Amino acid sequence: MTTIGFLGAGRMGSALVKSLLEAGHSVHVWNRTAEKAQALADFGAVPEPSAERAAGPAEIVIVNLLDYEASDAELRKPDVAEALKGKLLVQLTSGSPKTARETGRWAGDHGIAYLDGAIMATPNFIGGAETVILYSGSKTHFEKHEGLFKALGGKSAFVGEDFGTASALDSALLSQMWGTLFGTLQALAVCRAEGIEHDVYAGFLMSAQPMIDGAQQDLMERIRDGRDLADAQTLATVAVHNVAFHHLRDLIADRDLNPAFGDALGSLLETALRNDHQDDDFAVLARFMGAK
Ligand code: NAP
Repeated sequence: MTTIGFLGAGRMGSALVKSLLEAGHSVHVWNRTAEKAQALADFGAVPEPSAERAAGPAEIVIVNLLDYEASDAELRKPDVAEALKGKLLVQLTSGSPKTARETGRWAGDHGIAYLDGAIMATPNFIGGAETVILYSGSKTHFEKHEGLFKALGGKSAFVGEDFGTASALDSALLSQMWGTLFGTLQALAVCRAEGIEHDVYAGFLMSAQPMIDGAQQDLMERIRDGRDLADAQTLATVAVHNVAFHHLRDLIADRDLNPAFGDALGSLLETALRNDHQDDDFAVLARFMGAK
């Protein structure tokens, strides 16, 4: 059993605290709005009136506030920083790789061990056997407390000693999710404008999914292997994608739909065409994403 100081009892923080309590840990919770920390007393938590009081008796302090601005404002108070000295700080507030690295440096300068985590789940999945929370930073501390981290998410993993890696992976996976969600918004707008029932679309989407998954797999392998120019295995060239994409943009214009999706993605195709890649594989677009 570990004594944990927990800062934040919002939707996610409360779910995390309940899982820690269920796993048998002792949890001292502080929240800006005291009633939310108080509500966790029914589950066995000890509500505390301040962040430094929550951190005081703890071996590990976990933070889950709205953003880094809120988290920095608490952690960098002199009394809180002093209470954290010699302890492990686990940041579960969402942030960017840059903010994670800055907090890692700040923690090191103040004698605090640091892990930065990225939660790949909504609160109802916390504590689940399949739930993933990614951690980067102090490997020694992750391994020492691996059981505690696995209680919050059974498939949790350590992804590297660079503090920013967990949040970078988070952003990469969310890009994939948003690609799908924005695609769904556009697809359903087309269906509504053209009088196609959602269920009809959903049925054909299921049939098309293996083709979409296969194209994604092919794209990832080609970019990994540097095979972004056309070859005998190319499924569709930039020119072929561009023709089909133009049909979508024509439909968007004809039906007076929001052009944001077509404009943003169309501009990538246009960049590849301007650079004479019309006969190359779709994978060549990776050259224009700005990554070295
Ligand atoms: P939430 O329910 O809105 O809770 C936000 C928490 O931050 C509350 O404890 C709130 O305190 C506190 N807070 C906000 N501004 C503050 C400030 N200026 N000073 C001190 N405390 C402040 O949000 P949530 O869904 O729990 O999300 C919390 C974190 O988890 C976020 O970084 C989020 O990105 C991450 N996350 C959430 C999900 C999800 O599905 N919900 C998934 C992955 C990651 P009060 O109670 O006083 O307002």
